[in-house]
Amino acid sequence: MSISSFEDGARPPTRRTEAQNRPVLVVEDERDLAEEIRLELEASGHQVQLSETVDSALRAARSGVSVLVIDRILHGEDGLSIIETLRSEGNATPALVISALSTVDERINGLKAGGDDYLVKPFDIRELTARVQALLRRGGHTRLTRLEVGGLTIDLVERTARCDGKLIDLLPREFKLLEYFMRRPGQIVTRAMLLEDVWHFNFMAQTNVVDVQIGNLRRKLDPTGLRRFIVNIRAVGFKLDADP
Ligand code: CA
Repeated sequence: MSISSFEDGARPPTRRTEAQNRPVLVVEDERDLAEEIRLELEASGHQVQLSETVDSALRAARSGVSVLVIDRILHGEDGLSIIETLRSEGNATPALVISALSTVDERINGLKAGGDDYLVKPFDIRELTARVQALLRRGGHTRLTRLEVGGLTIDLVERTARCDGKLIDLLPREFKLLEYFMRRPGQIVTRAMLLEDVWHFNFMAQTNVVDVQIGNLRRKLDPTGLRRFIVNIRAVGFKLDADP
């Protein structure tokens, strides 16, 4: 059962744009993994094209794809060169880099090359699908590595969060939760949206997990309790106050 049927989370069906009807290009030379990604993306309703070399990936990307999923190491070549070449040609197709290279430096390299997101191997295949869908929703030209809202700042590359310049120690899930709100300042966020997009639950789940984590996040953002960054919207969900 889809979570969108939650009463408090009903969202209108999104109309697919022309770009979203183009295939997702998966560039990966490990065939088993490429196949696993293809099956998962197809199960989520995406067309998928596979490629395992830099040259064939460039040809496919130039002919028009919706999102690029690119492995770093492709038969000895660096997949980032695909993104660099496309960007130099003015091609802004969103790109998710997947790699076993997991250091902050490598993530920065991936983003500097023009990648829009970076996922470290091994990953949960559902996480990959969620990120591909996020890139599809965002479209091109929207890459952000830093978000600022009302005294809160997060760095998406370093995965750090600050409040009025002071570092906040967040667990990975808390960081994702905060990032989700900071991408939607002042917008109402329902529990169902959070369960689906932050927890990737696609089934009826205990919804108090959201309230518990939001409580934890609130205490970390403001131990004094004087500033309510995340406010409750009665019977609907939550909202990040842009000016608490
Ligand atoms: Ca590889």
